[in-house]
Amino acid sequence: MTRVLMVEDDPAIGRLLSRSLTERGYVVTLAATGASGLALALQEQPEVVLLDLGLPDLSGLEVLQMLRAVSSVPVIVVTAQDDDRTVVMALDSGADDYLVKPFGSDQLAARIRAVLRRAASGGGSDSAVRIAELEIDPTTRLVQLAGEPVDLSRKEFDLLWLLATRPGEVVTKREMLAGVWGLPFASGGERTVDVHLSWLRRKLGENAAEPRFLHTVRGVGVKLVVPEGPA
Ligand code: CA
Repeated sequence: MTRVLMVEDDPAIGRLLSRSLTERGYVVTLAATGASGLALALQEQPEVVLLDLGLPDLSGLEVLQMLRAVSSVPVIVVTAQDDDRTVVMALDSGADDYLVKPFGSDQLAARIRAVLRRAASGGGSDSAVRIAELEIDPTTRLVQLAGEPVDLSRKEFDLLWLLATRPGEVVTKREMLAGVWGLPFASGGERTVDVHLSWLRRKLGENAAEPRFLHTVRGVGVKLVVPEGPA
C-alpha cells in the first residue's frame, strides 16, 4: 500500500482529499503544519508527499528545501497560486510536480501515479556499483557499507555517485559543483563541495586525514578508490 503524507492546514481540504485517496487504496497521513510535516516525512518515510505552499508556520517552499536536504521522496506541491514565479520556485526547489487549487481527486490520483512511476524508473538503467564493501544503487538511491545502510542526503548521494561512476579517476571540484549542484565554479562554491565531502566522509567512517575511499588530490580534486587494508 502506498503511503502518502499530506501537509495541508485547511482541515476541510485535508479531510476531503484524504478520504478520496483512502478510497483509492492509499494510506494517508495528514500534517497541519510545516514542522509536523517535516517530522512525519522523516518518521514515516512516505512514498509521496503532497505539500501545500500556504502553511501557518513555515512556507511550503522552506519545508521543501529542508526536506530536500535529507530526502529524495517525490513531492507534489499544491498551491492556490498559479503565477509562474511560484511554480518555477517550487520546481527549482525540488518539487516533482505541482497542482493548482482547486483540482479534482481524479487529477490528484493521476499525478500521484505519474510521480510514483518516475520514481520507480529512477535514473534509468544504471546498475549498482560495488567498491570493496561499499555498495551504491542509483535506482533505489541506497548505499550500504559492509551490509549496513548509510543514510545520505540527496546531494551527498549525488556526490558519491558522481565519484563512483569514475572510480580511480580524479574528479575536480569544478566538475562536482557542476555535476551535483548544477552551478558554475565561483567563490563560495568550493566551500559547498568541501562541506559535503566532509559529511560524506564522516558517514563513510573516514576523514580527510585518514581516508579510505575518498582520497584528496591536493589542488586538483578527489578520487574514489578501493581502500587498502581492512575496514
Ligand atoms: Ca493552506
